[in-house]
Amino acid sequence: MISHTRQSAVTVLGLGPMGRALAGAFLDAGLPTTVWNRTPGKDRELVERGASGARSPEEAVAASGVTVICVVNYDAVDAIIRGDAVARALKGRTIVNLTADTPARARNTGAWAAGRGIGYLDGAVMTPAPTIGTPAAVFLHSGPEELYREHRPVLDKLGGTHTHLGEDIGRAAAFDVALLDIFWTAMAGYAHALAVARAEGVTGRELAPFAKGIGAVLPPIFEQGAVDMDHGRFPGEVNPITSAVSSMAHVVHVSESHGIDAGVMRAAEGLARRVIGRGHGTDGFLRVTELLNPRGFER
Ligand code: NDP
Repeated sequence: MISHTRQSAVTVLGLGPMGRALAGAFLDAGLPTTVWNRTPGKDRELVERGASGARSPEEAVAASGVTVICVVNYDAVDAIIRGDAVARALKGRTIVNLTADTPARARNTGAWAAGRGIGYLDGAVMTPAPTIGTPAAVFLHSGPEELYREHRPVLDKLGGTHTHLGEDIGRAAAFDVALLDIFWTAMAGYAHALAVARAEGVTGRELAPFAKGIGAVLPPIFEQGAVDMDHGRFPGEVNPITSAVSSMAHVVHVSESHGIDAGVMRAAEGLARRVIGRGHGTDGFLRVTELLNPRGFER
């Protein structure tokens, strides 16, 4: 039986790249750390560094006052923690779920935990595994503020910045989904751009410095666009949507001339054309937000 002083110890369930990074950061910070993973063997390096390898999730959670779980999704979370033995072992302890999934699943898990006397915080990691334990790591949290304050000293051992977004347990996942929306559509755009550039005889290395420049154009647009959207305005003086749609059409034409699927850009172009069709051609591209979610703009 593994036993640590409950207050200072931490357990990590799930030892994929992120779980291993989280456990490694706790170890580096000197916290007694217990680890468990469904598939055995992934704890080897952590145990060599001083972690205690548990034989079961119930043994793992019983070793610490706080458990961090980080697995592929909430189906995996449920498979690990919702069994009777683990739920019993978690009673009176806290679980911090850093697994990515939907706000609804986070609220559902929060309600399950509340019904069993388990403290529950939900969170999201917004930076890649190698950032964990460094100032570059970014963590979002939601759930009872008192519980968050209580466990903040342990969470701080993961490095980076920690932001508590509110008591609604689904808030961290809501931010996560919105931010992943940006990340994956940008990645889809970049993969597509590399394919089109290659078809035109442009290497990735040639394109990269200019691609970074395009990335750098975006932050001020995000900032101003967010303020404008919150006020329900979509100014298009600098780049009206009629002009934007023309440059999108160029991307579609060149792609398809090389037999490259242009589905993502066609979808964006289609939205922009619908906005123009509604008489908003002089507005900026972000007017599309209102088209996508008209109820969000009802006053
Ligand atoms: P994965 O998303 O691939 O998750 C792997 C972990 O999930 C392993 O521990 C795996 O166990 C476990 N798992 C999968 N299915 C089950 C199941 N049915 N029952 C029990 N355990 C299961 O790897 P990561 O560690 O990278 O990601 C974990 C979370 O962190 C994800 O939600 C991800 O979105 C998030 N994240 C990851 C980042 C990264 O850089 N890697 C960045 C930001 C967020 P087993 O070894 O037995 O298969």
